[in-house]
Amino acid sequence: MDSEEFKKQAHLFVEWMGDYLENITDYPVKSTVSPGEIKGKLSDSCPVKGEDMSDIFKDFREIIMPGVTHWQHPSFHAYFPANSSYPSLLGEMLTAAMGLQCMMWDTSPAAAELEERVTCWLRDMTGLPSSWKGVIQDTASTATLVAILTARERLTDFRCNEKGLFDEKKMRVYCSAEAHSSVDKGVRIAGLGTDNLVKIPVDENLAMKPELLDKAIREDTEKGFLPLCTVAALGTTGTVAVDPVDEIGSICEKYNIWLHIDAAYAGSALILPEYRHMMKGVEKADSFVFNPHKWLFTNFDCSLYFVKECGSLKKTFSITPEYLKTGSEENVNNYRDWGIQLGRRFRALKLWFVLRSFGEEGLQKKLREHISIAGIFKNLLLKNGEFELTSPASFNVICFRWTPAGYSEEDYNELTRDLMTRINLSGKAFLSHTVVKGKYTIRMVAGQTNISVEHIEMLHQLLVETAEEIIRERKGG
Ligand SMILES: *Cc1c(COP(=O)(O)O)cnc(C)c1O
Repeated sequence: MDSEEFKKQAHLFVEWMGDYLENITDYPVKSTVSPGEIKGKLSDSCPVKGEDMSDIFKDFREIIMPGVTHWQHPSFHAYFPANSSYPSLLGEMLTAAMGLQCMMWDTSPAAAELEERVTCWLRDMTGLPSSWKGVIQDTASTATLVAILTARERLTDFRCNEKGLFDEKKMRVYCSAEAHSSVDKGVRIAGLGTDNLVKIPVDENLAMKPELLDKAIREDTEKGFLPLCTVAALGTTGTVAVDPVDEIGSICEKYNIWLHIDAAYAGSALILPEYRHMMKGVEKADSFVFNPHKWLFTNFDCSLYFVKECGSLKKTFSITPEYLKTGSEENVNNYRDWGIQLGRRFRALKLWFVLRSFGEEGLQKKLREHISIAGIFKNLLLKNGEFELTSPASFNVICFRWTPAGYSEEDYNELTRDLMTRINLSGKAFLSHTVVKGKYTIRMVAGQTNISVEHIEMLHQLLVETAEEIIRERKGG
């Protein structure tokens, strides 16, 4: 392909992208293809001779698109969103065009310096202490692993990096029973073993009970374990429960152990002053992660990792072979030393576009809209009378189940599952579930960039109609 052809195709693609996003509600939200269906339509070997872009693009539309679940669809309410926006998409286009590899300052000074600036902007916007430093990671899973590894090295005076874990006491990590599976994965990869991950019970709001954390650490110390790190959730994945950061922070200070705060989803809400109280005590923590790629209109992937002091972080990860020495190490940030990967994408650009194009007020307005839409949905459910919340409404997430009259507790799990499955198959909305205290629970997240009240009213209507259909079928036979 030459430059002329590239420009011609790129214009066509931009038209397609614009139309796609404009008309996204014409697509079924969740793809309903069967396993192997798409693979069966794809050739089993690479073409020997190059093909025309028009043919490739045709196959993209005809083969790939039917197997796509539309994450930017306003009726996508499942999991957590990976929402996006026009400014972010434009940033990604430029990033792809330049194809930078931002492993260190020298390999693109602007990338390193922009990363430093935008992470500081968001540090200040979320109310993190102004002395903290930030870096962009691919995902929160990576950031949490990085936190555990840094804690491990700091506690063992950087011995494990050299000698391995063999001569060390068993180290223990603490999180709530509702913490994300990335903590389990991090503990595995860090060589600590999931037997040494202690899951602290939660209260009726599914937040960690700090007195039980204190007890667990004390007992572990008495038994000869080495308490290493606590991961507190600021917004769990199941129900967006918030662990008490301030109390947990005091306990971690008392025992001198690392505190990492996982705010992967709810961290975005901290740009709203009315949620800032959740950060009380954050200065007692050592690290903090949140994902602009979930609820801050920035294309996946973009995860911000902040640390109280970057010395231990860099000491844990920096390895400088001769071919990477530049002579400018002293005065600049070489972000390859701030995490696992050597090669890094230019993620700061799209984030900068988003922050500038929306502005702080624009972002706040969007988030408040989403929270208010979730509130409207909650009221519709409660007014209906046949639904109940299984956990307190939190941010823009509503956890509920279907409890129709004439049926009993034993039926509710099955009925709620049936209701959700049918809605997902309809293609009109996409919901996902969790289990709260044994109750099968539908999670509704109102987090798509352009969601409006109309979409949530449609969802409620769909719930009502599908529920009626299920009752009719059950009565009929
Ligand atoms: C989504 C989520 C994660 C994982 O995020 P990735 O960026 O996909 O690794 C971790 N913790 C919590 C609380 C989450 O909600």
